[in-house]
Amino acid sequence: MRKIRAHYIFDGFRFRKNAQLVVSDDGVVQDIYSVPEPIEEEAGVEFYAGIISPGFVNAHCHLELSNLQTHIPQKTGLPDFVSSVARLKKEIPFSEDACKETDELMWNNGIVAVGDISNFSDTFALKETSPIQYHTFIELFDLHEDSRAEYERGKKLFKSYLQRKHVSLSPHAPYSCSRKLCAKIEAHAVDYEYPVTIHNQEHESENEMFSKHSGQLFQVFQKELTHPILHTTYPSSLRFSAGAFEQVRHMLFVHNVYMSEYDIRFLLEERGAQHFTCVVCLCSNMYIHDELPPLPLFLKYSVQWAIGTDSLASNTDVSMIREMLSLQQAFPEVSLNQLLHAATYRGAYALNLQSRFGQFSKGKKPGVILIEQLDLQNMRLTPETKVRMI
Ligand SMILES: [Zn+2]
Repeated sequence: MRKIRAHYIFDGFRFRKNAQLVVSDDGVVQDIYSVPEPIEEEAGVEFYAGIISPGFVNAHCHLELSNLQTHIPQKTGLPDFVSSVARLKKEIPFSEDACKETDELMWNNGIVAVGDISNFSDTFALKETSPIQYHTFIELFDLHEDSRAEYERGKKLFKSYLQRKHVSLSPHAPYSCSRKLCAKIEAHAVDYEYPVTIHNQEHESENEMFSKHSGQLFQVFQKELTHPILHTTYPSSLRFSAGAFEQVRHMLFVHNVYMSEYDIRFLLEERGAQHFTCVVCLCSNMYIHDELPPLPLFLKYSVQWAIGTDSLASNTDVSMIREMLSLQQAFPEVSLNQLLHAATYRGAYALNLQSRFGQFSKGKKPGVILIEQLDLQNMRLTPETKVRMI
């Protein structure tokens, strides 16, 4: 049994001062309670300088793209980025070693669970043996295939995944999936009751594609499409995907750079706050097009939001602390409490992993991490802030 104290313990929801966490030797939380002042030294109690927190949950990654690190130039915009990834996937062979390195890097950065996008089965064996708990989203799109062939391919991958509770089928993005394919994924998601993720409103031309059938992204995909994806117009791309996946129990909308206040109010009214999470991948947005997600709107409307690193194709690291520091620098109004809640409980909830991860409460096994070298007086992260598993 371990008794752990620190300057602060973050329990997944709020900070506790003068608290003690008790975990079994294999990491199961036994208790968390306040220690009355004056705090006396007690034999066998570990004390740490900094904040103790449940392990981080990275809500969006593509382990499979680890071999593309540094291959894609920065700040060229989404249409160019999507074309580069498609080209490089053919040119640069998949690398199991690169994926293993990313997996280890995430673990060493205090990440205990990951929502990971897979197009193929190449990373499945690694994910099954990793100390990290993955929820795999098998990503489908029917630009070149007919929707039935792509759906059958996805179902085969789904069946081959051993951890049945931790796998979903998911559409790549509203601009790369036909209505037919979306309907098949929606029905499958309802049957298996899993969360679904989708890349959402990452570029302004994505909304233009849906509202006017024109713009940069529309031009790129018009060349690629073997069949029309769009038969009608929508006020925004979100209005297409919100309708297409109406029956899904929980949606993770990823990126949301061009999500409007109107879109947010629509989601809150139509879906309900408990049934969707907006995943913020700030470093990736900066890498691809030097733009920011609408975090102030999420805070204003109490939207549930989580944090993702995205892949090494569009990020120089897979570090939740770095994402949080960048968010704090871009949006000084966001508190450390809000950042840590998003990085722990919110990610776990979005991935349906809250029964084990994201909080210190009795019976859960969320991993225990130490965040050190912070500005504890002002409760701010600094460029020197580090994290380690303890
Ligand atoms: Zn992504």
